[in-house]
Amino acid sequence: MPSLDAIWENYICTGELSREEIVHLLELEDNGEQARLLNLADRVRRENLGDEVHLRGIIEFSNYCVRDCLYCGIRRSNRKLVRYRMTPDEIVATAAQAVAMGFKTVVLQSGDDFYYTGPMIAEIIRAVKEMGVAVTVSAGERPRTDYVQWREAGADRYLLKFETSDAALYNRLHPGTSLDRRLRYLRDLRELGYQLGSGNMVGLPGQTPATLADDILLMGSLQLEMAGIGPFLPHPATPLQGTDPGTMSMTLKVLAIARLLMPRAHLPATTALGSVNVDGRRAGLLAGANVLMLNLTPLEYRSLYEIYPAKAEIRTEPARLKAEAEELIHSLGRQVSTGYGHGYLHEATNVNLSLATEKPPHWACLARGSGSEGRG
Ligand code: SAH
Repeated sequence: MPSLDAIWENYICTGELSREEIVHLLELEDNGEQARLLNLADRVRRENLGDEVHLRGIIEFSNYCVRDCLYCGIRRSNRKLVRYRMTPDEIVATAAQAVAMGFKTVVLQSGDDFYYTGPMIAEIIRAVKEMGVAVTVSAGERPRTDYVQWREAGADRYLLKFETSDAALYNRLHPGTSLDRRLRYLRDLRELGYQLGSGNMVGLPGQTPATLADDILLMGSLQLEMAGIGPFLPHPATPLQGTDPGTMSMTLKVLAIARLLMPRAHLPATTALGSVNVDGRRAGLLAGANVLMLNLTPLEYRSLYEIYPAKAEIRTEPARLKAEAEELIHSLGRQVSTGYGHGYLHEATNVNLSLATEKPPHWACLARGSGSEGRG
């Protein structure tokens, strides 16, 4: 049985963790050991990204969805849900408010809603880009031509979570589609030059430490520039009602290990984590996270974007949310970033991809004076 110390020793010189080591870390039960793991992730975050926390403003512009994901409250089969669509003008006006409040990134998220054509969303992106901010789109699986148009319109990033790397489980949870297909979309998005965001849910029924380890390894091999890691929260109007939710402690372990394997990726302390526990986001920021996503959906719609129940931030005005986030960040002795917070493969304008993808020299190993060992 490897010890946390032995795993860490090896990690600081190689930058790597084996599947077996990840499983071992996920299975840490002892509170003291768990706390040490989260602390190490916090240290890796600080050494690689410093103390800045990036705020992203998210606008959930439609809760219509053609998909029927078994876990999701806005799935097509949920007939009880009141559906809404924001008009392009409303979306752009909401983005303008976000920009006026100082947000440097606007995230446009929705169900997979084909009411909005490729050109319609491209127009929205163009209007938001004119305001001088970074734009992340998270509108699900679309034809490649839409992704091309949106990128041409200026979209910087795309967020499409793979949810689980267990193909059988993925296929069960997502009727009519497959993990292969999801991964193909992710490859397309990377090819088109998007900063790539993906991620998983923690605590899905049928998930095991081994499949969670595979999730983390997949995030690493996709070279994600952003990974959203949140607990699964059962929704009463879905087939997964009554199953157990993901726990805060397992989610924090997954987040911490993801930080070790992806030292420079943007990792949010997710809203879902903040929904499972009032201190969830603080805990996430102390376990490797460096991003907070704040919900700027107009209040009249916000409670209807109910992907899971009891979502945090459901009634708080944007200005208040931002003030609370700033307070949290300052209370940790950290600062709100004033930059765009681009992905590590895209942060310089004339980025040399081969250099950017090389792992940064390992600080702790260098500090021990053994920098030439184990790095080839
Ligand atoms: N249609 C878009 C956006 C989906 S909603 C897409 O497919 O990418 C955004 C995220 O909410 C999903 O990727 C999923 O990880 C999360 N989510 C959905 N239902 C959830 C639940 N019951 N518990 C926790 N997270 C959930």
